[in-house]
Amino acid sequence: MKDYLIKAMTNDGLIRAYAASSTNLVEEARSRQDTWATASAALGRTLTITSMMGAMHKGEAEVTVKVEGGGPLGAIIADANTEGHVRGYVKNPHVDFDLNSKGKLDVSRAVGTTGNLQVIKDLGLRDLFTGEVPIVSGEISEDFTYYYATSEQVPSAVGAGVLVNPDHSILAAGGFIVQVMPGADDTTVDRLEEQLKFFPAISTLIQEGKTPEEILYRLFGESEISIHEKLPVEFRCKCSKERIGNAITGLGNEEIQAMISEDKGAEATCHFCNEVYRFSEEELEELKS
Ligand code: ZN
Repeated sequence: MKDYLIKAMTNDGLIRAYAASSTNLVEEARSRQDTWATASAALGRTLTITSMMGAMHKGEAEVTVKVEGGGPLGAIIADANTEGHVRGYVKNPHVDFDLNSKGKLDVSRAVGTTGNLQVIKDLGLRDLFTGEVPIVSGEISEDFTYYYATSEQVPSAVGAGVLVNPDHSILAAGGFIVQVMPGADDTTVDRLEEQLKFFPAISTLIQEGKTPEEILYRLFGESEISIHEKLPVEFRCKCSKERIGNAITGLGNEEIQAMISEDKGAEATCHFCNEVYRFSEEELEELKS
């Protein structure tokens, strides 16, 4: 099944919902960065949520997310545009712990619980929108739920899950974001909370072959919600040799000359996709300003 996300609204107009299948996206990130199981789960949850956050906007907008919980993973960075292109990395990919007391990957231990979650939105306006909240659980989904409630004042439920095979490849990944619209009363919120309380883990539903549509139908009832957009989701980096070259130019001629005479060339690796770019002495010469 190809990864995609859907955008939906309940027929009473009181709740908007997003759901995504992201197994291939998370597998691509894992294989590029060689993340170990717990790190894959933390990065995969973040990538899945970020893909939906990007898709909430239109045009050239971009959403960047930084999860820094003070744990052994270090920072998780992800960004997404409005077209379902998402990329991200974790500072220390080689983090893996025993399963937690619930038999799940111990994401909270890997992420940590002492730092912040930051969301930066570039909506093409003069100023960037930045929101920051403390990490509440390090489980990622709860941290984004808290972010929406506190920083954006939108009561929301965010869920994301990743299942990892014994060989560390990704078995299943997916997520949802459900948001209560202005004008909804307490009954709507209470009912949603009740529905979510007994809702199965999203990664299990994806593993069972459920589509994003089926997941939202199961949550709201098929006759209660309308899907109004479907968008492919994929890991896609925006790095290029030209962009890295511009960054090298920015280092200044003296630095570039040192690369030429001391290193006989330069090599740069993109954090997001691990692509390696090599520059010969001649190419470096051309990058001087
Ligand atoms: Zn890249």
